[in-house]
Amino acid sequence: MVHFVGAGPGAKDLITLRGKELLEKADIIIYAGSLVNPELLEYAKSGCVIHDSKEMNLDQVIEVIKKAEDDGKTTVRLHTGDPSLYGAIREQMDILDELKISYDLTPGVSSFCGAAAALNMEYTLPGVSQSVIITRMDGRTLVPQKESIEALATHGATMVFFLSSFDTKGLSERLINAGVSPMTPCALVYKATWDDEKSFVCSLEDLHEMAQKNNIHKTALIIVGETVAQTGYDKSRLYAPDFTTEYRLGTDKNAGREQ
Ligand code: SAH
Repeated sequence: MVHFVGAGPGAKDLITLRGKELLEKADIIIYAGSLVNPELLEYAKSGCVIHDSKEMNLDQVIEVIKKAEDDGKTTVRLHTGDPSLYGAIREQMDILDELKISYDLTPGVSSFCGAAAALNMEYTLPGVSQSVIITRMDGRTLVPQKESIEALATHGATMVFFLSSFDTKGLSERLINAGVSPMTPCALVYKATWDDEKSFVCSLEDLHEMAQKNNIHKTALIIVGETVAQTGYDKSRLYAPDFTTEYRLGTDKNAGREQ
């Protein structure tokens, strides 16, 4: 059996209880050493064999899993954040399906949630933005044209850029050319929830300078949108004294609807 486990954004205690239990029981752990905090490996039992996937290709990962299966052992494939985001897990699961090796997934706290915590931020501020666009710049993996930065920017929603801090200049220029105001607040969060976490807030036009000055080119998220300022929002209707819900009885006709 293979367990794909979300390691969380970095801090050792931000893995789920289920993820931690799976690590404790695993015979083999294959972890993404480029981003997973190695402190999480302290949860492994003695005798557990640990592989760092940053030095392995897909075939080698599968070989390790296949051998473990032949020996009747349990493998944890530990991915950073939540495995469903930029985790390259589909290709692994498809091969496991072909090999008739069973697996399951345990979610993790994604780094974009860790970044919000670093900033004491709420992404969905009423009256400002109610949507979060999770995307990335083109890298070795291309972004489909219909999801280009220019196309997504037209929504004016909060945008979270993964895998993009290598080109803060290109990112800010493309957003500004697409019509996003150079004054739009943006945040750069490096190693959210790690001991050496750093976060900065500036305007979009200053993003590149901010990244350069602080030498941030990887393991960072960029958040762009008016919500980053955390001001100018409407109070939530859910907690308004005149508003009723199925839990707080009253006469409001919308009671019981998700607001
Ligand atoms: N599955 C992961 C994302 C993997 S892609 C998740 O849910 O978070 C790798 C990218 O995630 C990095 O390039 C960086 O943009 C971002 N990232 C991962 N951990 C991070 C952290 N602790 N702080 C800031 N960004 C992080």
